[in-house]
Amino acid sequence: MAHIVIIGAGISGLTTAWYLQKKGHRVTLLEKKSRAGGPISTVQEDGWIAEEGPGTLLEVSEHVRNLIQDAGLENEVLLSNPKAKKRFIAFQKKPVSLPSSIKSAISTPLLHWNSKLRFLKEPFIGPAKSEDETLADFVRRRLGAEALERFINPLVGGIYAGDPERLSARYAFPRLWNLEQEHKSLIRGMMKGGPSKDPARKEIPRNKARIINFKKGLNQLPESLSKKIETVEFNAEVTKIRKKSTGFSVSYGEKEIDCDVLVYAGRATGFRNISLPKEIEDLKSLDQIVHPPVCVVHLGFRRSDIAHPLDGFGVLIPAVEKFDILGTQFNSSLFPNRTPGSDFVLTTSFVGGMRQPEMAHHSNPEELVLKNLTNLLGIKGKPVFSHHKLWPKAIPQYEMDYGKYALLMDDSEKALPGFYLAGNYRGGISLGDSITNAVMLSERIDASLQDSFI
Ligand SMILES: Cc1cc2nc3c(=O)[nH]c(=O)nc-3n(C[C@H](O)[C@H](O)[C@H](O)COP(=O)(O)OP(=O)(O)OC[C@H]3O[C@@H](n4cnc5c(N)ncnc54)[C@H](O)[C@@H]3O)c2cc1C
Repeated sequence: MAHIVIIGAGISGLTTAWYLQKKGHRVTLLEKKSRAGGPISTVQEDGWIAEEGPGTLLEVSEHVRNLIQDAGLENEVLLSNPKAKKRFIAFQKKPVSLPSSIKSAISTPLLHWNSKLRFLKEPFIGPAKSEDETLADFVRRRLGAEALERFINPLVGGIYAGDPERLSARYAFPRLWNLEQEHKSLIRGMMKGGPSKDPARKEIPRNKARIINFKKGLNQLPESLSKKIETVEFNAEVTKIRKKSTGFSVSYGEKEIDCDVLVYAGRATGFRNISLPKEIEDLKSLDQIVHPPVCVVHLGFRRSDIAHPLDGFGVLIPAVEKFDILGTQFNSSLFPNRTPGSDFVLTTSFVGGMRQPEMAHHSNPEELVLKNLTNLLGIKGKPVFSHHKLWPKAIPQYEMDYGKYALLMDDSEKALPGFYLAGNYRGGISLGDSITNAVMLSERIDASLQDSFI
């Protein structure tokens, strides 16, 4: 039986490990921290449930649904409240709901008339002639400058904590890029059902994908999975990988273990700290992928102390509105059990990112967020709960040089057969994409092992 070592017990490493074990392989999962899950981290305090990292898991594929089932968490799933579908964008310092129908799109104050009419031109604009372009250039070309400023800028702040002037359209938003490549128009492509899909990914259309958390928080997923994996070692930081005549040897602490297959599911920034075989030494350059800092700030209030009804997912802030926050989720509207009772509400705000990296390190982030929310949401009283968590290197940015790193990852796997790469630095940053990619990787590894034993 092949022995597979997986470095890193974030969602990518856990998913890869679980499916390889399920297929009958011997798996050892090594994690440098004392717990699994990476940034997935739930805090429970006096009846408040706050996510220090990701707050929602989008069920982008059937693989996500299957993993939850395999983790034994079907009965723990908490679906987002259907009444909290509305999404707000800050406009002239107040939340304005994002149009959800043609009628509301025509009347929205978020765009001027000439920008609305500009949308009619979109089907007649040809696809990009270059191999890639920034997301900002892509959107300006197809939908106009105001759509970029009012919709895409805040959206990208919410997803990547990123800057559309730097992100690659092709790698950071491949669905959008492919829609244009295949259908020559985003509007026409959407009317025809979106970009073509790889059936093996078992994608669920985004408008049908459920938004998920668990009764006691997202932590339940990594906790349950890590208990199901037979060999997990915590406080096991891998510092050296050696190629042997067959397979690899992996060193951590005082220990060294051998394996036939090795998966690196750590972070893009982590290769620098590992002694690597010469075939894959260039992976150290992945630490040049920019990871901006983000501070996640929770403020809990009495319901009666906020004027806004918080009747939606949250509010995103365009850079032109000049706030010190990227956006705020109305967490207790999405998942009502996040507070000690129905007369309380929980807001979760994001500070920093590529827009204002220095703000993430603010000495009093709670005060900074309260100052920003006071006028935006009409806050009258003081918070009754607060918690913050700084992620110094939060989310990898797939910027214009990302193509070079994508190629390097493919080449490294070819240069060192039996060595594989997984994680949010490859093929998508969201939990849902990380899970889907990890399932696909486990299938690829299993198939290669079957071939080598025939
Ligand atoms: C603030 C924040 C908010 C987010 N919000 C959302 C959201 O709402 N929805 C969403 O879908 N996504 C969200 N994301 C993104 C998502 O959480 C991450 O992309 C995802 O968790 C990454 O998983 P991963 O397994 O690829 O990496 P990680 O979870 O980072 O796992 C890597 C693991 O490898 C370990 N490791 C590293 N080096 C070594 C070594 N040498 N030896 C042993 N172990 C090692 C690390 O300790 C870590 O546990 C958010 C991220 C952040 C930071």
